[in-house]
Amino acid sequence: MNLGEFKCMLCGATVFRPWLTRCPDNYLQKGCLVNYVECKACLLVQQHPLPDDVGALYTDYPVHSSRNLMQRLARRIFHRQVYYRPPACSADLSLLDYGCGDGTFLCEMKGRFKSLYGFEPGCSHAEKLSALLDVPIFSSTENLRQELAGKIDLITAHFVLEHVSDFQEAFQTFQTLLKLGGTLYVAVPNIRSWEINLFKKFWHGLDAPRHLAFPDPVHFKMLTDRYGFNIGGTSFAAFPNTLAGSLATVLSGRCHPLLFMGLILPCWLVSLCAPQGTLIIQMVKA
Ligand SMILES: [Zn+2]
Repeated sequence: MNLGEFKCMLCGATVFRPWLTRCPDNYLQKGCLVNYVECKACLLVQQHPLPDDVGALYTDYPVHSSRNLMQRLARRIFHRQVYYRPPACSADLSLLDYGCGDGTFLCEMKGRFKSLYGFEPGCSHAEKLSALLDVPIFSSTENLRQELAGKIDLITAHFVLEHVSDFQEAFQTFQTLLKLGGTLYVAVPNIRSWEINLFKKFWHGLDAPRHLAFPDPVHFKMLTDRYGFNIGGTSFAAFPNTLAGSLATVLSGRCHPLLFMGLILPCWLVSLCAPQGTLIIQMVKA
C-alpha cells in the first residue's frame, strides 16, 4: 500500500491505519481490488488511494435503471424504514432528492410536496429522467446552487454520501440550498454495524470500489458543526439488502441476483430484530 499522499477527506490528517485491504468488486465484478484505511485522527474509513475516474465504476450500475413492478413492490415493503416518509403537512414544502438514481423516490413523492427537484450527476441520465418524471433534475451543482439557493425545505440523500469524494462540497451545497430550519435527511451504510464485523470485505454495504467513504455519527457531528446544522435525530433502519447481498456473496462467490432475491425475506426479518446495517441521520440548518 502506498503510504504517501494520504489525506483524510474529512479532517485533512495525513496518518492512517490499514482497515480492509484488497477488497474485490463483489457486486459488478469489475475485477479491481481496492483498500480501505482508517484516518488516525478522526477514524473516518475511506478508500485509499481514491480513484482518479469514478465514472468507469458505474457502467451497468443498476441503481440508475428503471425498476420493474416486483422491485417497486419489494422496495415499498422492505425499504420503508430507510427512505424518508413525509409528514401529512408537507404539501407546502419543497423537496430536493440529491442523488435521485432512477427517480423512484421522487415518483413516490409526487403530490406530497409543493415542488420537487432531483440531482444526479451525468447530464444525459438527468435529462432522460427529467423528461420521464416531469420533474427538474439537475446534473450540475453550480446550476443547482444558482437556481435553488435558499429555496429548499427538505433535502434527502439516500445512499449517496458513501459515493462522494468531497464532503465539503456536498455540505456547502446543502447549506446553500436549504432554508433556515430546513432538514437534511441522510441514509448511509453503517460501517460500525455487526454486519461489517461478520462479513468484512464480503459485506454488501462496502460495495467496493464504488463506495469511497463511510461517515459515522461522529463525522456527521463534525460536518454539522462546520456547516451550521444541528443533529435532529440518529437511528438505524431495517434494510435487508446489505445482509442478503453479503450472504449471497459468501455462498456463491458473487452477489448472485436469484440468491439475493431468495434471501431478502429472511434477511428482512433478521434486520428487523437487529437493524444496524443502515444509519439514518437527520440534520437541521441552524
Ligand atoms: Zn480524518
